[in-house]
Amino acid sequence: MTDPLDIVIVGGGTAGWMTAAALAATVAGRQARVRLIESDQIGTVGVGEATLPQMKDFNDFVGIQEADMMKATQATFKLGIEFRDWGFTGSSYIHPFGEFGQPMGGVDFIHQWVRARQAGEAQDIETYSYAIQACRQGRFDFPVDDKQEVNSTYAYAYHLDAGLYARYLRGFAEPKGVERIEGRIVDVERDDETGFVTAVKLESGESVGGDYFIDCSGFNSLLFDKTLGVPFEDWSDWLPCDRAVAVPSERVDPMTPYTRSTALEAGWQWRIPLQHRTGNGYVFCSNYISDAEASSRLLENLDSPALADPRVLRFKAGRRACSWQGNCIAVGLSSGFLEPLESTSIYLIQVAIMALTQLFPGRRPDPALVAEFNRLVDYEYDRVRDFLILHYHLNSRDDSALWRRCREMPVPDSLREKMEMFRRRGFVERYRFGLFAPPSWISVYMGQGLLPEGFEPFARNASLATVTDRMRTLAGNIESRVQAMPRHADFVADYCPADLPEAPA
Ligand SMILES: Cc1cc2nc3c(=O)[nH]c(=O)nc-3n(C[C@H](O)[C@H](O)[C@H](O)COP(=O)(O)OP(=O)(O)OC[C@H]3O[C@@H](n4cnc5c(N)ncnc54)[C@H](O)[C@@H]3O)c2cc1C
Repeated sequence: MTDPLDIVIVGGGTAGWMTAAALAATVAGRQARVRLIESDQIGTVGVGEATLPQMKDFNDFVGIQEADMMKATQATFKLGIEFRDWGFTGSSYIHPFGEFGQPMGGVDFIHQWVRARQAGEAQDIETYSYAIQACRQGRFDFPVDDKQEVNSTYAYAYHLDAGLYARYLRGFAEPKGVERIEGRIVDVERDDETGFVTAVKLESGESVGGDYFIDCSGFNSLLFDKTLGVPFEDWSDWLPCDRAVAVPSERVDPMTPYTRSTALEAGWQWRIPLQHRTGNGYVFCSNYISDAEASSRLLENLDSPALADPRVLRFKAGRRACSWQGNCIAVGLSSGFLEPLESTSIYLIQVAIMALTQLFPGRRPDPALVAEFNRLVDYEYDRVRDFLILHYHLNSRDDSALWRRCREMPVPDSLREKMEMFRRRGFVERYRFGLFAPPSWISVYMGQGLLPEGFEPFARNASLATVTDRMRTLAGNIESRVQAMPRHADFVADYCPADLPEAPA
């Protein structure tokens, strides 16, 4: 029997503990010795509360029980994101985690909708989304499995306290054999010949050696930036926001089953309902507003009293040229950052972890597996980038320089082509894997004012009367089913009530 691999995880934020939990569920103990080093002195980034539906797949893969995790992390459910004032001031649309309508005669719903709309026979596209109607009415229930039923056409994600989630995963990973080492890394040792990292050195003098090092050190990017010098591809020309100010506030009822994102003069504000509090933040571009002004603006906009002082964070949009080099793999903020507009960071952590488990290496890295890992991670980053740019670019706001600049900026060719295909034909590319599915693109295009001029000719195979009749039935069906769902707050209180923190004496 060969010796187990020695894997060292550098950092214990969300990325570090998600990696540890996945390795605990798959290889720790049997095929690998897994150690995680973190420093309480340095701490974690301490934000990150909204997720995507894929997170449930990760938890299921690892073997986490949903209600238990939700109780431990003060979590609520999320069916989508409301975008206020994005296309123009006064507008509101929801990006749902679910379908718009159902295909008719083999033709996607969007084409029938455009056709009916052009004939003056269709209602707003939101009417035909189960997830959106549930959001608008503040309701939640689990989707059913029967694909014939309209309440099978959506998925859900979580709002959670990411710090508590990391703690929860630690409680899961340690009993399964992951060893935690507390300490600050002050030096990294490398092999002269290969350049591979051989050990990290702690302030205490202890040296921790390994076959592989997973860089989960956050914005510090201890291995990828500071040691290996892997170049950072800067995307801030397209995504100019470079700071955020965050502040928690008291819980507000009713508890929305969606995240809210409101466009402001120099960026946008998030609002995320948890069981014990509401998470808030203003993501902004420092060319257009100062830290102090952004903090005051955020505090003015809160819908409940603040529970702490606002905290400013700095970042730059982009990613490293690769996320696996030599015997080091970057997961989380050490590999790149895209602002939290579509809650994609934890998802990108998950992508890297799942790719790593599928391409799990032997004693020496295999160049073919490394190349495939980098390809998988890179294309996910690139697609998320295009989707985020779309939100900024497709606006008709005229109230500030940021929005004018974004509207006029040249966008990547990949995005320009996507927008053109949608405008001409209502066409949205369907990916086999990864983000984002057609309803996501449709919601943002249409929510921000880009409507298709044409539709698939096959849509005419069914008569207009048949199509509009089915659309009416669908809308009625959605309305009555949604009315029967429990209120979101009641569902959470019943399914996963968290212990609320004690009030100060
Ligand atoms: C403003 C903002 C809002 C966000 N909102 C969301 C959101 O809604 N949804 C979402 O999915 N994501 C969000 N994110 C991203 C999310 O916070 C991160 O992706 C996630 O927390 C992972 O961070 P991390 O583990 O990579 O880094 P960190 O949390 O920073 O962890 C880094 C770890 O490395 C350790 N470390 C660093 N240097 C050393 C050293 N020298 N020695 C020892 N240990 C060291 C630290 O102690 C820590 O344990 C947001 C990010 C920002 C900035």
